[in-house]
Amino acid sequence: MSKININKSWKYDEALESKSHINLKDKYNLFIDGEFVKPLSRKYFKTINPATNESISEIAEANEKDVDLAVKSARKAFKSWSKLDPKERAKYIFRIARMIQERAKEFAVIESLNGGKPIRESRDIDIPLAANHFFYYAGWADKLEYAFPNKVPKPLGVAGQIIPWNFPLLMAAWKIAPAIACGNTVVLKPAETTSLTALKLAELIKDSGLPKGVVNIVTGAGKTGAAIVNHPDINKIAFTGSTEVGKLIERSLAGIEKKTTLELGGKGANIIFEDAAIDQAVEGIVNAIFFNQGHVCCAGSRLFIQASVADTVIEKLKDRISTLIVGDPLDKNTDIGAINSVEQLNTIEKYIEIGKKEGGEIYQTECSLPKKGNWCPPTLFLNVSQSHTIVKEEIFGPVLAIQTFRTIDEVIEKANNSPFGLSAGVWTEKGSKIFKLTKELNAGVVWANTYNKFDPCSPFGGFKESGMGREGGLHGLKSYIKFE
Ligand code: NDP
Repeated sequence: MSKININKSWKYDEALESKSHINLKDKYNLFIDGEFVKPLSRKYFKTINPATNESISEIAEANEKDVDLAVKSARKAFKSWSKLDPKERAKYIFRIARMIQERAKEFAVIESLNGGKPIRESRDIDIPLAANHFFYYAGWADKLEYAFPNKVPKPLGVAGQIIPWNFPLLMAAWKIAPAIACGNTVVLKPAETTSLTALKLAELIKDSGLPKGVVNIVTGAGKTGAAIVNHPDINKIAFTGSTEVGKLIERSLAGIEKKTTLELGGKGANIIFEDAAIDQAVEGIVNAIFFNQGHVCCAGSRLFIQASVADTVIEKLKDRISTLIVGDPLDKNTDIGAINSVEQLNTIEKYIEIGKKEGGEIYQTECSLPKKGNWCPPTLFLNVSQSHTIVKEEIFGPVLAIQTFRTIDEVIEKANNSPFGLSAGVWTEKGSKIFKLTKELNAGVVWANTYNKFDPCSPFGGFKESGMGREGGLHGLKSYIKFE
């Protein structure tokens, strides 16, 4: 029997996470020099809940002058922070990690409210991982000479950090923790649509007693990001976002002495061999593409199935996705939450239309979708090939393009036929195949018999148009130091 035996007669009752313990202001100012200050721009923008498209709060929009104030504060703080005994630096970072754990429930609910991701994910993945990044880099702060033996590591200075909307708190942790552990100070800009958990982190940082100006958080849209990139007194730019904006940033920094790391888009290949444990692989396919509504740079958005098992895998996959619950991000049963913004939903729908027009065979489940908000059912495209737009371009939504292959060399060639090189997955019982693929796939991360597993100890980053530099692990420290 090829179907997964799923008992579909079970109906889930609503299991809403409570919002009673969260504390949100009507208006958020910029976090500069350890205080919340009104923006010189005097402008605010609304931040919305993508599950209802209703406004949650108003957020300050930083202009060039605001960014300049933040950079000045970071520069001033750098003088003492970089000279502080590393053991003391570690204590602050450790304290931030503990405080995130203590306030985890509040962070999780706000992350789901503002970003649309299922509470199951923000509660069990985003927030614990964010705390883990602070713990991990707290550990390195006073051991840098062991990380780089026979060298004298020195901090770079002020780091400008720009992050996207898909993992708001986690991306802030990825950026801030290694930077301050190495003795740098920071000006961070969260994404326009999901600034709330970064601002809650600013409140937490204030409560932690971290010296003023070590972390500054300026909110705003692309212009605010550009003001950070082009500020003359910033020593390092760490950017995570689209390849398009990454290229813009690279162009504007060409010839300027600013260290840069770019974590950009992806189009991950998830490869299922005939000898794989098929039911587990089907779970892996679901996790690879439907985690966080597919708003994941390393999503396994290109599925390659060995031809001999293709019919079985596709039948099981259709059966499995028919059980996925799309709906309220705050419901603990929800598998796929809200699409992050109306703009992103339009982009995904545009790609689905292109997929159909170019001859792809679409399969969508008949799940019920809420009336208000931004939703997209889990979507499969069959009968597509390497030249289809939906196979080539990053969609950043719950849309999977499925192809088949016969030999190992064929799938390596197909998987590498992409301008991106961020991630891949391999499902097989043969270790030898895993080693061959991890060696020959052009991807910064290759998971074997699992997918979308993250750990602060592991470096993460891409090749080709997926960016340059690594974050996480020991490699992540290297991006924030120079040697003397
Ligand atoms: P964008 O590139 O649009 O935005 C990323 C950040 O840059 C946002 O804070 C954005 O501000 C800001 N920004 C926009 N324009 C400029 C500019 N000209 N100069 C400086 N900053 C600017 O990406 P998305 O937010 O849409 O994020 C999705 C992308 O991020 C996907 O391509 C995804 O693959 C990639 N990503 C990569 C990861 C990796 O580790 N490789 C991890 C996560 C995501 P605002 O949002 O306010 O406009």
